[in-house]
Amino acid sequence: MYNHIFVCPMCNWQSNPNITLLRCQECNNPLQIKYILNTNSSKIFSYLKNISVMSPISDLSKYISLGEGNTPTIRLNNIFADLNISLNAKLEFLNPTGSFKDRGSSMMLSMLKQMGVENIVEDSSGNAGGSISAYSSRAGINAHIFVPKSAPKPKVDQIKIYGAKTHSIDGTRDETTSAAEKFVKEKGFVYASHNLNPYFLEGTKITGYEIYDYFKNDMPDHIVIPVGNGSLYIGIWKAFRELQDSGLSLKFPKLHAIQTENVMPIVSSFTGNKWNTSYAKPTIAGGIAVSKPPRIFEIMKVIKDSKGTATSINESEISEYQIELAQKEGIYCEPTCATSFAAIPKLVEGNVISPGEKVLIPITGFGLKDTAPNM
Ligand SMILES: [Zn+2]
Repeated sequence: MYNHIFVCPMCNWQSNPNITLLRCQECNNPLQIKYILNTNSSKIFSYLKNISVMSPISDLSKYISLGEGNTPTIRLNNIFADLNISLNAKLEFLNPTGSFKDRGSSMMLSMLKQMGVENIVEDSSGNAGGSISAYSSRAGINAHIFVPKSAPKPKVDQIKIYGAKTHSIDGTRDETTSAAEKFVKEKGFVYASHNLNPYFLEGTKITGYEIYDYFKNDMPDHIVIPVGNGSLYIGIWKAFRELQDSGLSLKFPKLHAIQTENVMPIVSSFTGNKWNTSYAKPTIAGGIAVSKPPRIFEIMKVIKDSKGTATSINESEISEYQIELAQKEGIYCEPTCATSFAAIPKLVEGNVISPGEKVLIPITGFGLKDTAPNM
């Protein structure tokens, strides 16, 4: 008996939970979780003392955790001292494998364990692969991770050391996904795609609950997030909506989606400019190098509902702000996350962020996991 169903966010098609079902059978959009019963998750998220978190986990003995979540929020007073904004960072790189993806992996692997799954397949260019490899080893589940040959060595090494079988594909990110899907069909294993699996989103969602728990009646005016597949972006907004539905009155921040100019389907959709996958170029921001985001409908809806924006950053700005953040604040973030910092002066200049407003940036991943910038 589950406390939730699967629902299509685009056409509202519904189904009972089924681990092999990743897309709507009517319109092909990836699915989300909708709760039909309120279950008490206070034992799992005990640090959120006054908030009831909606969670799909019913068997606490199958809860797979490495101590993820409950990350600190700190003030950043130096990097934009001249801009007259109140800047805060939530240190998501302090999760067990060095990125926010651990939140999604914990929830997804807990549900896979609960459903008796023994073998999974995933494709990733880095952070999600390392994270799913770690949580699979913790769960005693065999993981096959497909990676493009171009993935940074530290990230591939991390996938390997946790024990996942790594399949290196000599091709693009999209070809790596195709190879993983073919392998799933051949072997009959479960495709535990972090882009598509609705439980992964339920894990990244917890970030939003923590943001509310920290700021409460003094929520940020803006949250600035690098967006590739959008699991953090969509997840944070889902948390805010669930908190509102539970009867809390909260001030919604505007959620801004940041991309690199080299891969910018979301920004193009927001600005109405033509863009297709053939325009994609290599980028140092590997975490957001997603030319065809499966959840683009949901991402665009969050931009609209939160009154957010979408902004693109060029490659040299990414390295520049990665170094700037390290030298002004002592934080070594991955290039993907440096896009959020590079976006701040643009958002201020464009009057999207006004003087005196409060801004939050989740630092999504640790710089040590990637190739260092030229200095
Ligand atoms: Zn649908």
